[in-house]
Amino acid sequence: MHYQRTIKEEISIDGVGLHSGEKVKARLIPAEADTGIVFMRADNGRQKIPLSPDRVVSTQNNSALGVNGNKILTVEHLLSAFYGLGIDNALIEVYGPEIPVLDGSAKPFVREILNAGIEKLGKARKFMLVKKPVRAEEGDRYAALDPSPEFRIEFVISYDHPLLSYQRKEFTFDHQDFEREISPARTFGFLSEVDQLLKSGLAKGGGLQNVVVIGQDGPVNPEGFRFQDEPVRHKILDSMGDLMILGTNIIGAYRGYKSGHKLNHQLLVNLLSSPDNYQLIEATDPHLVQENGFQIPRWYNPDSAQSA
Ligand SMILES: [Zn+2]
Repeated sequence: MHYQRTIKEEISIDGVGLHSGEKVKARLIPAEADTGIVFMRADNGRQKIPLSPDRVVSTQNNSALGVNGNKILTVEHLLSAFYGLGIDNALIEVYGPEIPVLDGSAKPFVREILNAGIEKLGKARKFMLVKKPVRAEEGDRYAALDPSPEFRIEFVISYDHPLLSYQRKEFTFDHQDFEREISPARTFGFLSEVDQLLKSGLAKGGGLQNVVVIGQDGPVNPEGFRFQDEPVRHKILDSMGDLMILGTNIIGAYRGYKSGHKLNHQLLVNLLSSPDNYQLIEATDPHLVQENGFQIPRWYNPDSAQSA
């Protein structure tokens, strides 16, 4: 049996919103089994926003969730940390229009969650098994999900820039690897696009402390890249956060080619468009898992995960 999890203690995180530029605060509060991850604008209406592709209200340079005009921007890095650490349930009270960007990666969230501890709950975790290939595309870009016995991600980026003309990375899901190899990868942007972003009302809270800004010869940030292929790692981080909006862990193989928040969202909508595409499974006993032929990632077993 693979149990659902929540955080052991409440966590409070202050910072700046990447796009809004406003001072924002998020409180991560433990929640009971089957609550899911639920967001709430605590400063405005306190209406609950559960995870669902239906709640995505913007995908321009970030994934935003909302209900009745109440928006929360840039949820993807926090959701990626939850996915990576196997947190199924938590209430996220947000004060302000956005989740704090911190250093532009998921690492600070991961550190806070591991410090607070992870609590095993008394109910089985649910999975969404991908049964048929699903795809979302626009021009030469695409995002795809295929049946696979384990959760895997493969991403390719290709930009009109000598350093980023081609980066490809595969990642087979495992808690330790996520923490070490994916969670520290920061948001990036091109120096040539800064003016345009600001004109669109985006990236108002952006700076070298939370974005890798890439000029003609490489990062303008004095510390450089954290990994030589940090940008493609960040796209994997983002995609995990975007996939988490489904509200259920996926067993399947994701492939992204120059994909982003918009195509990732469309992919989830396409997945849910036909019940033939997926099967919802509760990991109540190992036989069920064997019959369906999939493997639960190593970290899903709380006995083998140090933090569980
Ligand atoms: Zn991102």
